[in-house]
Amino acid sequence: MFQVKEMYYTLQGEGARSGRPSVFCRFTGCNLWSGREVDREKAVCNFCDTDFIGTDGPGGGKFIDEVSLSEIINNVWPKKEPNKYVVFTGGEPALQLTEALIDSLHKLDFEVAIETNGTLDLPSNIDWITVSPKGNSELKVKKGDELKLVFPQQELKPETFFKLDFDHFFLQPKDCKDEEDYTQKTIQYCLENPRWRLSLQTHKYIGID
Ligand code: SF4
Repeated sequence: MFQVKEMYYTLQGEGARSGRPSVFCRFTGCNLWSGREVDREKAVCNFCDTDFIGTDGPGGGKFIDEVSLSEIINNVWPKKEPNKYVVFTGGEPALQLTEALIDSLHKLDFEVAIETNGTLDLPSNIDWITVSPKGNSELKVKKGDELKLVFPQQELKPETFFKLDFDHFFLQPKDCKDEEDYTQKTIQYCLENPRWRLSLQTHKYIGID
């Protein structure tokens, strides 16, 4: 059984594949925060702005097996158009994503991406891996396509990540409603440390989900 908070067709807004048409499938649940405000202060990850509780969002629901979920994802993609791409996000998608689901999507010609906090082992057949480390969590996924670090995080120093095996290193300004705008600080850090590239949440600027 797969639990999905929401699912929709949009453009990828962040990182190296920014601008790419994608089906976003947001799984329910995360291993670093319950998603409830009362638990935020003691959570390992405490700046999350995503609602990943339940299955009540647009396109959300419970799906009995990988075939039924992959068929729904395929129905969200424009009919007969190629370049199929699905991004599993959350919450923490590694809690639910399986090799069988990815196989099923590959049979439908999808390329499969994950955006993970990197604390759980991943299925071996994922096509594009984005790791976004959080707080004091233990990082298990030490290689992938892009590492996207929300900046700044007190416990996580950007320079400690270069020993890891990623093709792209992105810094993304922390987006907290009640805190300062970290964009300028992130720009300055990238200018002084040019191995990092700036990632902006472009979907928020252009008003799409
Ligand atoms: S790991 Fe991701 S989904 Fe989980 S609480 Fe942090 S930002 Fe939210």
